[in-house]
Amino acid sequence: MKKKQFKSESKRLMDLMINSIYTHKEIFLREIISNASDALDKLYFKSLTDSSVGLNADDFVINIDIDKDSRIIRVSDNGCGMTEDELDSNLGTIAKSGSLNFKTENDDSKDIDIIGQFGVGFYSAFMVSDKVTVYTKAFGSDIAYIWESNGTDGYRIGETEKDGFGTVVEMHIKEDTDDENYSKYLDKYTISSLVKKYSDYIRHPIKMDFTESKPVEGEEGKYEDVTETRVLNSRIPIWKKNKSEVKEEDYNNFYKEKFFDFEDPLKVIHSSVEGNATYKSLLYIPAHAPFNYYTKDYEKGLQLYSKGVLIMDKCPDLLPDYFSFVKGLIDSEDLSLNISREMLQHDSQLKLIAKTVEKKIKSELEKMLKTEREKYEKFFKEFGTQIKFGIYNMYGLHKDELKDLLIFKSSYEDKMTTIGEYVERLKEEDKKIYYACGETEDKIKMLPQYDAAIGKGIEVLLLTDYVDEFVVKTLHEYEGREFANICDEDFDLTSDEEKESLKKSNDDAKDLLASMKEALEGKVVDVRFTNKLSGHPVCLSTEGEISLDMEKTLNSLPGARDNKIKADIVLEINIDHPVAQKLINGMNDDKDEIKKYAVLLYDEACLIAGRAIDNPVEHSKYVCELLSK
Ligand code: ADP
Repeated sequence: MKKKQFKSESKRLMDLMINSIYTHKEIFLREIISNASDALDKLYFKSLTDSSVGLNADDFVINIDIDKDSRIIRVSDNGCGMTEDELDSNLGTIAKSGSLNFKTENDDSKDIDIIGQFGVGFYSAFMVSDKVTVYTKAFGSDIAYIWESNGTDGYRIGETEKDGFGTVVEMHIKEDTDDENYSKYLDKYTISSLVKKYSDYIRHPIKMDFTESKPVEGEEGKYEDVTETRVLNSRIPIWKKNKSEVKEEDYNNFYKEKFFDFEDPLKVIHSSVEGNATYKSLLYIPAHAPFNYYTKDYEKGLQLYSKGVLIMDKCPDLLPDYFSFVKGLIDSEDLSLNISREMLQHDSQLKLIAKTVEKKIKSELEKMLKTEREKYEKFFKEFGTQIKFGIYNMYGLHKDELKDLLIFKSSYEDKMTTIGEYVERLKEEDKKIYYACGETEDKIKMLPQYDAAIGKGIEVLLLTDYVDEFVVKTLHEYEGREFANICDEDFDLTSDEEKESLKKSNDDAKDLLASMKEALEGKVVDVRFTNKLSGHPVCLSTEGEISLDMEKTLNSLPGARDNKIKADIVLEINIDHPVAQKLINGMNDDKDEIKKYAVLLYDEACLIAGRAIDNPVEHSKYVCELLSK
């Protein structure tokens, strides 16, 4: 036999798993059975087009056999089996390096749960076994192979004898310790209840022999051992059962096992649809975004079954991008078993199903938003950004479908609000939906414009996600009311007389303002007096489409480095502030002095808006000059 070492990462991972204090050691059985079931599925597939397989649908079986005295559990299948190479690569390497990196970066994460996400199923056998031996013969091959390992010192592969194709996984169960009763796994009733608990839905029969002592008919007082083979699983997939038959726990266990999550889902959507498209669906909204969710590595998709048989593991065409977080499966009678992926994409039935699925997800989210607000907020925290992308992607093509799923913080109360709720609170005469952007709520609340808006009784949406402003710009309006940034230059709620008087002040100080603008050449497009700032001396506002926050977001995108975008900034000075009076009355024509004031006021406005100032040295020089006067 050839002796080989596990790849070094595998070894680390294995140590971690075997030694971790995992409370659910019992899941090893589910993992081994799932592998057997997959192997049966693979061969079943083949049998559809290859008569040499020689098996009917009902001939594919999983057998469990327990030998208490030798402490062995054997799980056998007559599935596809493995060649020598497959044996080596499938059972010689565990998980990809990604899982290890993830683990070390998040050391407080629960070890085994993270591992569970990466499909290292087979190795869970070592949580309960001190030796695992695999006998396997690939379908179509004449040679059988044996693989053997104690889980730590590498593994051996060699040739062996085996009747028929398929795989036998033989687990030698550990001796009991003070903390752990391993012997219970050698009890047939424990094993059959574990099968019921975790593998009930497996569509192939899982069989085990039970021997019981029974009275011999006709011979009173005489007993004999009778062995009967029982099928342990109901073989009805969970999604084919009636909702009333399935417990929440069953839904959740199924989800965690199938979709490699360690947390229960936030929402389960189980439906049976009849009509133009006939299918059953079991959909899950996860409670947290997978760690790679917002990267290009994340693959969206639902499992696709045809009459209970898996035909595609991740069918992307079943989910729009904005609902890519949804996990689950569709089982349809209408799809052909051996349809190719290429054909699937054009399948009108599949398109119909996808449309119905999308509607269902949307209505469930809306329902959650209405009736389970807290849950919805949790959902939105994880996946809201994806909904927002959905709104502005494709030039807003889907904005109407998605706009009512948005929630934002608002100045109204310390809670999230939908845009609809904001509009309901608006008075008839209020025409617009006001918002302000900033890194945090606190920073927004420090904006001079914010105080001014609140002072006027305006409710302001607080947009803190970097995509938010693009979202409201894409929406443009809601029920006929436009969105308006309170930091836009034309945010103005003053009366006609006030406007008139402000215009006069600006006209009178024309030369002064022009000199200030000149002093701030390249930084601002204008300098103006304003009357909208309540107590604050200055603020920055912008003209045109690009706001300060959009400028920041756009310039942080990759590719923007050589081609910076600039907002048209206006420096606004509060006409009612003493500093305005000082400028108007005390400056005369002293250009030098005007420049200092212009630079200092601009710098102050930058600081308030959360921007860095251009020249801190110049700034501090001017401040100190003023202080020394
Ligand atoms: P996963 O099942 O998530 O891929 P495992 O570690 O459980 O990870 O199994 C690794 C691989 O070993 C499987 O993908 C499969 O190719 C192979 N394998 C495991 N058990 C069997 C089996 N009973 N029959 C055929 N192949 C198997």
